[in-house]
Amino acid sequence: MIRRTILASFFVAVFSFAPIGHHLTADDAPLAGFSADSSRTERRWEEKFRATPDPAKLREYMQRLTAHPHNVGSPYDKDNAEWLLAKFKEFGLDAHIESFSVLFPTPKERLVELVAGGPRFTAKLQEPAVPQDPTSNQQSEQLPTYNAYSADGDVTGPLVYVNYGIPEDYETLDRHGLSVKGAIVIARYGHAWRGIKPKVAAEHGAIGCIIYSDPRDDGYSAGETFPNGGLRPREGVQRGSVQDSTEFMGDPLTPSIGATADAKRLPIKNAPTTTTIPVLPISYADATPLLSAITGPVVPEAWRGGLPITYRIGPGPAKVHLKMFSNWEMKPLYDVIAKIPGSQFPDEWVIRGNHHDAWVNGAEDPISGLVAVLEEARSLGELVKAGWKPKRTIIYCAWDGEEPGLLGSVEWLETHADELRSKTVAYVNSDTNDRGFLGVDGAHSLEKLANDVARDVQDPETKLSVWKRWQLRSITTANSDEARAELRSRTDLRIDISGGGSDHAGFQNFLGVAVLNYGFGGEDEGGIYHSIYDDFYWYTHFSDTDFAYGKSLAQVAGTTIMRLADADLLPFDFSDQAETVQTYVRGLQAFGVKQQNDVREHNLELEEGAFTASADPKEKYVPPAKQGIPPHMNFAPLQNSADALTRAAAEYQKALAHAEANGGAALASASLAEINRMLIDSERKLTNPEGLPGRSWYKHEIYAPGVYTGYEAKAIPAVREAMEQKQWRLAEQSIAAAAKVLSDEAAQVSAAAAKLAAL
Ligand SMILES: [Zn+2]
Repeated sequence: MIRRTILASFFVAVFSFAPIGHHLTADDAPLAGFSADSSRTERRWEEKFRATPDPAKLREYMQRLTAHPHNVGSPYDKDNAEWLLAKFKEFGLDAHIESFSVLFPTPKERLVELVAGGPRFTAKLQEPAVPQDPTSNQQSEQLPTYNAYSADGDVTGPLVYVNYGIPEDYETLDRHGLSVKGAIVIARYGHAWRGIKPKVAAEHGAIGCIIYSDPRDDGYSAGETFPNGGLRPREGVQRGSVQDSTEFMGDPLTPSIGATADAKRLPIKNAPTTTTIPVLPISYADATPLLSAITGPVVPEAWRGGLPITYRIGPGPAKVHLKMFSNWEMKPLYDVIAKIPGSQFPDEWVIRGNHHDAWVNGAEDPISGLVAVLEEARSLGELVKAGWKPKRTIIYCAWDGEEPGLLGSVEWLETHADELRSKTVAYVNSDTNDRGFLGVDGAHSLEKLANDVARDVQDPETKLSVWKRWQLRSITTANSDEARAELRSRTDLRIDISGGGSDHAGFQNFLGVAVLNYGFGGEDEGGIYHSIYDDFYWYTHFSDTDFAYGKSLAQVAGTTIMRLADADLLPFDFSDQAETVQTYVRGLQAFGVKQQNDVREHNLELEEGAFTASADPKEKYVPPAKQGIPPHMNFAPLQNSADALTRAAAEYQKALAHAEANGGAALASASLAEINRMLIDSERKLTNPEGLPGRSWYKHEIYAPGVYTGYEAKAIPAVREAMEQKQWRLAEQSIAAAAKVLSDEAAQVSAAAAKLAAL
């Protein structure tokens, strides 16, 4: 489900640096959280591990797993799960399949036709097979193009083009005095998670929503199209879920509880995450006659796409008939769960996962990530046979049902929530993987660990370390002198917050587990996302064709898992976390000032008559309304708790340096077990059992996907979103709630520091 930014052009530096001149050996400085002795042992095992993943096997797994469409409920989805189970067992892991029953609608009736305003036209809604691509013709097994969890409906109305269909696009419509009330909107994919588009359209009174892939974004404007190149062909369509995950993720009928056979379910017709209006995705071939028939004002420059037409807003005279009905059926899920038991702390779990279901054949999404998971499991199995005994339990998961709404991971973790909250050390996710630069997002308490691991893995193209290439690339794309200076001087590269786009989301947002999400990318453009062309032929012609980066992903994620499973003292770091939280608090304050300044300027221009004077009097123009100046907010509780966390992190750092002195003899102490328990609980301290306002499923107070951004995450989300929605009282209350979890975190870190100092 994850969608990475497509980089149409980027700077491939011909690096003048020598390759990692220094190959890490067992004699290097001890790894964070390891005594000198245990670090030497760990490094030897890790080197053995990183030498094991084999690109030929990655290729072989991908060919097998993508041989047929394998969406939720399909025969090949089950077949793949059984094959994965057999593989994990063959590698020596203790594996089983855990099943759930979930609501997964599939199309029964789909229609888009232009009934007025232009030549009568019926959309094809069908992706054609490509002769040289051997799996593209498996039509009887392919899910038709649709958006899962669309409302059923048969509607006819004038067509309005709404650009990306995000809230600010509707403000532009307001300035033109245009409304979408009673209309069908057509929005292009991009700039927000797709489910936001029908949600915002319905909030503005639209009765239907069409989403199309504009060639400017991932078609011919960006590069050669498939099968000559990797970008989206004329009739390629992006499928995808539009389930409204504002309130919760997972199966729509079982919020917050596992979708087991005997679970108490909501009735299907009350499924709360279904959209309120019908929605269908189409290709740019199907969109062109519709968009061409729209008249009315010419769009602003930023709204133009790559079709050879004049983009206009409407409404009409193009009139569209849109019909969408689903079979609302229950389908089985097959999560494959495989364990390597811990030798010393079997009740401390390090979890790694990637989903196995796809929209169609799904080579890039998700199999490119899943094959790395499999090679990691095989390589770790080899280590176990050679005598390696991880201290903690390692759990490898191949999730089902990620595409419709993270169903497999969420139902599993809701079923085992209490046990997972108490036992989970961390969760490491991947989804898609391509060629290029390491991408990392996740919990800032694991930022240092991710950086340390990236320093120990070699980039296959440049032979620099993955970390060095990540740093240098970030320097070339940074947008300020300050950012570049920081990239050169800060010990660790910053990682982004994880959003809602893949299976880490339930761990982070529902359980409060520290997560990391890894994937390489940035060198190959792709326009096959969620289409029938995301298959083995495409991947082996236009992406990581020799699976060199599949091996890199296995090395990065597997090394992370080993370090978490073997460390004497868990490698959580609170300095990066505290410093990042400080930037969030300053960011909120700056945002408050900006909101006030923006409103002052807005009102001044209104008084000056600037809006009307600069509008064309021959065209309709509606000036915006005067706005109230946002009040000053009291950020002191957040500042104080963030400062407390900064002090606690410094105490922890000092205690850690003390414990690591003299070869880290203190790290052999038996009392470390108690400190590790405190570290495991530390991320949970950032959660509020009542959840975010209006979104009780989302319990993490510092990270959450945005209500109006979807994939994209927000920091201190309750405060940020209340401010964005101008709900000042709620913002003040949310400041108190976020300050409380930061104070709790500070107390936890401080207590762990005191115990560590006393060793
Ligand atoms: Zn995916």
